Amino acid sequence: AVAVKALRKNYDANIVLDGVDLAVRNGEVIALLGPSGSGKSTLLRCINNLELWNDGTIEVGGRRLGFNHLGKPLSPRMAAQARAEVGVGMVFQQFNLFGHLTAKENIAGPLRWVHGVAPAEAERRALQLLERVGLSHRADALPRHLSGGQQQRVAIARAIAPNPSVLLLDEPTSALDPELVNEVLEVIRRLAVEDGLTMIISTHQLRFASEVADRVVLLAGGAIIEEGPADQVLNHPKNPVAQRFLSAMD
Ligand code: ATP
Ligand code: MG
Repeated sequence: AVAVKALRKNYDANIVLDGVDLAVRNGEVIALLGPSGSGKSTLLRCINNLELWNDGTIEVGGRRLGFNHLGKPLSPRMAAQARAEVGVGMVFQQFNLFGHLTAKENIAGPLRWVHGVAPAEAERRALQLLERVGLSHRADALPRHLSGGQQQRVAIARAIAPNPSVLLLDEPTSALDPELVNEVLEVIRRLAVEDGLTMIISTHQLRFASEVADRVVLLAGGAIIEEGPADQVLNHPKNPVAQRFLSAMD
C-alpha cells in the first residue's frame, strides 16, 4: 500500500531523514518508534504530503506523491487532491478538530467539501462512524465539550470516513491524560483487527506496539536502525543504539 524509497529530508543543514526505505503491505500495522527528534512526525508528514522532501520517492496505492512527472513539486491544491485520491488519512497528537463544528459535522463536513459526498449520505456515514468509535450520544457536541479521549476518537472517525488506503497516526495518545489512553488504543486496535486497516502509528507505547503492530520500525539518526516483529525488535534488538533507546524506555 505504501512504498517509501531512499527518502531524504532536511531542514536547512539539519538532515532529518537520511535514506529511509519502508514498504507497507495492505492490512499491515506498523509501529514507528524512535527518540524525540528522530524524524517520526516528519516521515508521516511526508507520506501525507504535508511536507515536501529533498530526494527519494513515496508511492501510495501505486501513485507517486509530492512531485509531478517532471520532478516539480505539486502545488498545495494538487497535493491535497492527490492525498484525497490515493486515500491517506492522518490523526494528530493534538486532535486538530474544527472547534466551531460539532462532532458529527467534523466528520460529515470534509466528506461533503473534499470528497463530494451528498449531504444526506455524509450525515449517515458520520453517524455510523461515531457509533463505531462509541460516540453516538455525543454527535451534536462541540469539541470543547468533549474529553481529550473523545476528541481523539472523533478525529479517528473523521480520518477513516473517506476509506483511506492508509491511516497515519502521529502519537495519537501522547496528549491524553493517562486514564483516557486506553479508550483510544482500543479503537485503534479494533480498526486493526476488525477492519484490517493499513496503519502507521508513531508511539511511545511499547506494550501497545507489541500487541497491535505486525512490524515495529525503529528510527534513529535519520535512518531505520531496526525493524521486524515486535518481539524481535523490542526484546532482542541487535543495534546498540536500539538497545540503549529501548532500555531507557522501560
Ligand atoms: P518527537 O518524538 O519529539 O515527536 P519526532 O521523531 O517526531 O520527535 P520530528 O518532529 O520529525 O521528530 O523532528 C525531526 C527533526 O526535524 C528535529 O530535529 C526537529 O527539530 C526538526 N524539524 C521538524 N519540523 C521542522 C520544521 N518545520 N522546521 C525546521 N526543523 C524542523
Ligand atoms: Mg513527533
